Amino acid sequence: MQQSNLIPAPPLSLKEGECCGNAAPVFSLEFFPPKTQEGIDKLIRIQRELQCLRPAFCSVTFGACGSTREGTLDMVLAMKRDGQNATPHLSCIGASKAQIHDIIDHYLAHDIQHLVALRGDLPSGTFDTGAFRYAAELVAFIREISGDHFHIEVAAYPEVHPQATSAEDDLRYFKRKIDAGADSAITQYFYNAEAYWSFVDACAALGVTAPIVPGIMPIMSFSRLSRFSEMCGAEIPRWIRRRMEGYGDDLASVRAFGLDIVTDLCARLLERGAPGLHFYTLNQAELTLEICRRLGLVTTGLNVSEVS
Ligand code: FAD
Repeated sequence: MQQSNLIPAPPLSLKEGECCGNAAPVFSLEFFPPKTQEGIDKLIRIQRELQCLRPAFCSVTFGACGSTREGTLDMVLAMKRDGQNATPHLSCIGASKAQIHDIIDHYLAHDIQHLVALRGDLPSGTFDTGAFRYAAELVAFIREISGDHFHIEVAAYPEVHPQATSAEDDLRYFKRKIDAGADSAITQYFYNAEAYWSFVDACAALGVTAPIVPGIMPIMSFSRLSRFSEMCGAEIPRWIRRRMEGYGDDLASVRAFGLDIVTDLCARLLERGAPGLHFYTLNQAELTLEICRRLGLVTTGLNVSEVS
C-alpha cells in the first residue's frame, strides 16, 4: 500500500435530512465478491489501497437470485475481520422469507450494521418471484425483524429504472422504499448530472429528505460500459459515445478521456452539494484513486491492481 495524505474530514454516516450540503461528503466503494479465497485475499489488498479515501463503508454485491450468496457472505466477513465497515447487498427476488431471515440473522450475529436492500434483476423466462416482489417489501421485512439495527441503503434511478411503467411511478415507488424504512439511497450510475439533480428535486418535492448519493462508474472499457448500460438503462450521452467509438481499440485514450469526464462529473456534483460519491470500483483501485486524486481528495501515485 502506498502512503497517501488525506485532505477531507473523516466521513460521517448520513442520516435523514442530511440531503445536500449539510454535512461533509461521504465516500463509499462497491465491489463484487471474488470466487476464490485467493481472490478474496487480493481484493482485501485492493481495499486497503483504497482506505486512503476513508470510505464510510465498502459494499459487496449479491448475485441475482442469491447466486453469490456464499461469496458475498465470505467477502463481507473477510472485510469485517480487516476492520472495514463491510456492507452487504441483499436482493430478494426468488427468495423465501425464511432465506432472507436466515441471512439477516447471520449479519446480526456478526454485527454487520449497514445493508443495501434490493429487489435484484429478474431472471429471464418464467420464475417464482418468491416472498418479495419489490425492494420496498424487503426493507419493511428487515425493519420488522431487526428494528433499527441496520442502516439501510436502497437503489435510486435518476434516468428511470428500465422496467418502470413511467418516471412518475418510479419516483413514487422509490419513495415507498424510504417510507418503508430505508435511511439513504445510492443511484444507478449516470453521466448526465442534470438527470441526478432533477431526480433529487423531484424527491424533495415529494417530501423525501433521505440522502441520495450519486453512483459513479469509472470508465475502463467502452465495450464493457456499453454492455452494462444497455442492461441497466444508464444513458451514455451521444457525444461521449461518439468520442469513445472514435478511440476504437486505443484503450489508453478511452481511459484518459473517461478519467476526464468522470472527474469533471464528480467535481460538479460535489460543488453543487451532492451528499457524497459511491464508486463502482469493479474491483480495481486504479481509476477510483486517480479520480479522487484529481479531485484533490487524496494525494497518491497510481498503483495498478485488479481482481476479476
Ligand atoms: P425496486 O425498487 O423494487 O424497483 C424495481 C422496479 O419495480 C422499478 O421499475 C419500479 O418502478 C417498480 N416497482 C417498484 N415497486 C412497485 C410496485 N409496488 N408496483 C409496481 N411496480 C413497482 N442487483 C443485484 O442483483 N445485486 C446487487 O448487489 C445489486 N446492487 C445494486 C446497487 C445499486 C446502487 C443499484 C442502483 C442497483 C443494484 N442492483 C443489484 C441492480 C438492481 O437489483 C436492479 O436494478 C433491479 O432491477 C431493481 O432493483 P431495485 O431494488 O431498485 O427494485
